[in-house]
Amino acid sequence: MWNNIIGQQHVIENLKSVFLSHKTGHAYLFEGTDGVGKDAVAIEFAKLLNCTDLVNGNEACDKCPSCRKISSFRSEYFKFICALPASKTDESDADPVDKLAGADFDEYMEQVSAKSDDPYHRINISGANNIRINSIRDLVSKIYLSAPAGITKVFIISEADKMKQEASNALLKVLEEPPKKSVIILTTSKVNSLPQTIIGRCQRVHFEALRENDIADKLLREGGYTEKQVNLAARLCFGSYSRAIDLLQMGIEELRDTALEYLVSLLKNDPATVISICRNISAKNDKEKTRQFLFFLNIWIRDLLRVKAAGEADPELLTNYDLAERLGKLNNNFPESDIFNIVLQLEEAEKLIGQNIQLTLILVNLSVKLKKYFIKQAV
Ligand SMILES: [Zn+2]
Repeated sequence: MWNNIIGQQHVIENLKSVFLSHKTGHAYLFEGTDGVGKDAVAIEFAKLLNCTDLVNGNEACDKCPSCRKISSFRSEYFKFICALPASKTDESDADPVDKLAGADFDEYMEQVSAKSDDPYHRINISGANNIRINSIRDLVSKIYLSAPAGITKVFIISEADKMKQEASNALLKVLEEPPKKSVIILTTSKVNSLPQTIIGRCQRVHFEALRENDIADKLLREGGYTEKQVNLAARLCFGSYSRAIDLLQMGIEELRDTALEYLVSLLKNDPATVISICRNISAKNDKEKTRQFLFFLNIWIRDLLRVKAAGEADPELLTNYDLAERLGKLNNNFPESDIFNIVLQLEEAEKLIGQNIQLTLILVNLSVKLKKYFIKQAV
């Protein structure tokens, strides 16, 4: 059913009318930011194309055997292709999923099962950096087989930008001679990483960032978090549902509060607290946590910039709208802070995380520089 999808009315109307006019293309490229529902819509469209009990003539029923098989990724006419870890058997044409070794296979199954439960789940398999050439060879071997009447084979290639040249070339041959009664849907958030030859043979469908309200509604329906946490996540995720989920799972309020405490301690000249926060965040060499901490610092500082520009702390303009008063005070205490350079320093620290540098050192160095740019001209 289309109500499985968050927002994206424009895309849904487009696909409905394509379906109703019997003008479904052979290849689509769903492009847009990470976490806005490209895979989810692709799966929903696959169900629509094969549903035996349509609702209103343009909507999958979610109940017929075909809908159920596609939803659970068990249909032989539906294939969801994603990046996989390397195996030793890249020479054979077999589906590389069958060749995955024990732990890799278990992880794959677990991730695919999570995806079938929730089409918005972001698949994460360790070491899975590329879409294997054999996944595309397997597609080629299946897409030209005949299928029973009423069946449209659907192949989704998720994060299609992860195809290397060999895989892209193999796919291109299929796109040049598209078989009947089959649809290939590529999804990507990095459309510019795909070869022009591939892009040119697909119908492009652009996915917009999701609206804050749509994300909050869905999160509240799913349950498990307070309204305050949900509203914060919806505001901070920049229109990406999966990012909102990441933020909630990481403990959104705690990280945000820590980032503010850090900033206040830095400006109050309390180095003991600053260093203790730096150590806590970077403990166990947790790069992801360190990145998220910088993300929240960035959000605070961008809010400060807005306060500075507007000359007042108007909650309507702020990401941290619930703490407008504190932001106002912070700005009043440091009226001459050099926000431009502060943001640059944050970006620089973010880049260093990817390199082999001790995280605590990155954060402590950052603190020294931030302080300089906050206080420099005020002294
Ligand atoms: Zn159905």
